[in-house]
Amino acid sequence: MVPAEVNTRPTNPTRRTVRKDIWTCGGIDHGLQARLAQTGGTTRTGAAVRRLSQHSRCSGRRNLRIVRGFPTRSERNRRRWGSERPSGVETGGTAYGAPDAMRFYFIGTGSAFTLADDNFQSNAVLEADDGRRLLIDCGTDARRALKALGLGREDIHAIYISHLHGDHVGGLEWFGFTSYFCPGSHRPELFLAEDLVGPLWDNSLKAGMAALDFGWARLETFFKVHSLATTGSFDFAGVRLDLVRLLHIRSGEAEMWSYGLMIHAPTGPVLFTSDCLHQPDVLMPWYRAARLIFQDCDTGSRPGGAHAHYSHLCSLPAEIRARMWLYHVKDGPLPDAVADGFLGFVRPGQVFEFGAAA
Ligand SMILES: [Zn+2]
Repeated sequence: MVPAEVNTRPTNPTRRTVRKDIWTCGGIDHGLQARLAQTGGTTRTGAAVRRLSQHSRCSGRRNLRIVRGFPTRSERNRRRWGSERPSGVETGGTAYGAPDAMRFYFIGTGSAFTLADDNFQSNAVLEADDGRRLLIDCGTDARRALKALGLGREDIHAIYISHLHGDHVGGLEWFGFTSYFCPGSHRPELFLAEDLVGPLWDNSLKAGMAALDFGWARLETFFKVHSLATTGSFDFAGVRLDLVRLLHIRSGEAEMWSYGLMIHAPTGPVLFTSDCLHQPDVLMPWYRAARLIFQDCDTGSRPGGAHAHYSHLCSLPAEIRARMWLYHVKDGPLPDAVADGFLGFVRPGQVFEFGAAA
């Protein structure tokens, strides 16, 4: 089922070099060759992409290219996992690659302000093998990012919102209006923590969406709203997802929370942090319970006040970093995360197999 794999090793082992070959999957490699020509870089893109077959089992995924989310055997050996090698990441690619699998991929892995030609804001998709898809956050870039992977609004059956920044909710007006006005369209499920429901409508969407042809609309006009306890959970395609309440911003009296997810995949729990500050005291139990971690990571030159900074994440125990993928990156050069003990930076469209859905 997994047609091929791309060797994701950095082409240059020197620290803090551009991972020139990492943005080549997902069919959104616009400008890559031009960039490489400018930088004098080399890539295995051509051969790699030629080896990849397009995945056509699920409708709409015309451009999504399946790439193993886990390191090749040679990479694993190089990393010297030792006795703390995480199970589930290391079984020749079969643990997360079984037929009839649930999959997870980012439609973009960039920051809120990304202007990259080959990346979008950090939103993700959890996909069941029957084609049901949960869009995890729907930011301003969402329609373009989905289109780049051959997906449309009609391919998304439910949405989860982690918090109310525009790169995570800015696409909901598009999604709600097009679902409402498109004949035969379904009203999508919308999952979010209960303390986000009111502010999402009152402060983010109401101004543009309240007036409709029949009168005043509500959030429920466009979505089947599921208001979740802040420490609650919900099911999608037979998989339980727990909300993980995390601090995103705290400045004086102002604070903002974001709700990550613990995805109870058949092959083990997977932690998606959503946007959050570095808070190892809160996150460590989740880190230790997860077999795989997708961690918000600020790659700016110095730590800010909203995201876990790369330099801070480097201080996590090695056995945590060895299960951790990084995303939400700024445009430009990236550190050599593999050399620092992480699994690496996620590429848009890179598919992670989570095992069979119930
Ligand atoms: Zn945010």
